[in-house]
Amino acid sequence: MTVAPGSTIGIVGGGQLGRMLAIAAAQLGYKCHIYAPDEAPPAAEVSARFTRGDWSDEGALARFGSEVDVATYEFENIAAAPLAALAAQVPLYPRPSALAIAQDRVSEKQFVLGLGGEPAAFAPVDTREALGAALAQVGTPAILKTRRFGYDGKGQARIMSPADADAAWEAVRGAPSILEAFVDFEAEFSLLLCRSASGETLTWDAPRNTHVNGILDRSEVPGGPEIASAAAQAAPLARKVAEALDYVGVIALEFFACQGRPIFNEMAPRVHNSGHWTIEGAITSQFENHIRAICGLPLGATGLAASRVTMRNLIGTDADDWRDILSDPAAHLHLYGKGEARPGRKMGHVTRLG
Ligand code: AMP
Repeated sequence: MTVAPGSTIGIVGGGQLGRMLAIAAAQLGYKCHIYAPDEAPPAAEVSARFTRGDWSDEGALARFGSEVDVATYEFENIAAAPLAALAAQVPLYPRPSALAIAQDRVSEKQFVLGLGGEPAAFAPVDTREALGAALAQVGTPAILKTRRFGYDGKGQARIMSPADADAAWEAVRGAPSILEAFVDFEAEFSLLLCRSASGETLTWDAPRNTHVNGILDRSEVPGGPEIASAAAQAAPLARKVAEALDYVGVIALEFFACQGRPIFNEMAPRVHNSGHWTIEGAITSQFENHIRAICGLPLGATGLAASRVTMRNLIGTDADDWRDILSDPAAHLHLYGKGEARPGRKMGHVTRLG
């Protein structure tokens, strides 16, 4: 099925990812309709229509679905029932089954393990007693993470020795969690893949991702030799994941490069922060290819547009330096139109080529 230019794409979620998707869609002649609970979400500013509604409002999501020609999401924490209400009205890509797996850190690791991927040792933890047993199994140092709703290092606690267990259990507030062995990695990278409805897959060069306080700070391409070799092993796994999910659109898999091997950390069934560099740094961006895929158009080439690309996130008040950033004529500045620069909030990013 082809959704022709001129049609309306529904995007569930109104953040910067939705904003950049809507900008890419507009370039191809589509109109976007944003669904989000916020009063003035960044994506709505650049879209033709906006519906304000709760994530859990099945009726509102069904109405929204009846008003668009195809739908996608840029926000992951939507429950199955409201998503099903939307999918009953309109083709929804990626399919909700991909979201169901990726929403839960245990199920995504089990899923990838089943396809031959290698996550760090892990154990599900539902009670304080289970945490003790998991620590005996996984060892220390380890990280306790909530199974759901975690992002940017939120809902995580490091456990250096079993004596830290009580504090870690308190940090996750007793929520269903996962204990993961701490990976002594050389570098972090992500693999972004786009799959079309007809099953064609393309990947972009894997960026070296550096995190500060659990938040992505920068992505650099090329990522260096250890990333190139680990990413070459991760690419067939990413294809298997996309095929097993009958995936349509962009999916991001995050890995640790550890002794030359890709250790799987997590996946996101959507466009991803570590792919922002593709807007100027690749022949076709992750946003454009996601729109092409969900609309049934041919995918665009993913090769590099420069020998070297660096993307830096502008977190909190970093974005106040926009004048300085623009004093470098080679800098591509992206600001997301968010009002208040709260600490840890992603306000924009800057990409440099060459
Ligand atoms: P996550 O929310 O799982 O992406 O974790 C955020 C960041 O915490 C990662 O990008 C890593 O820098 C770090 N981290 C998460 N899990 C581990 C682990 N098992 N071993 C070492 N570092 C980790």
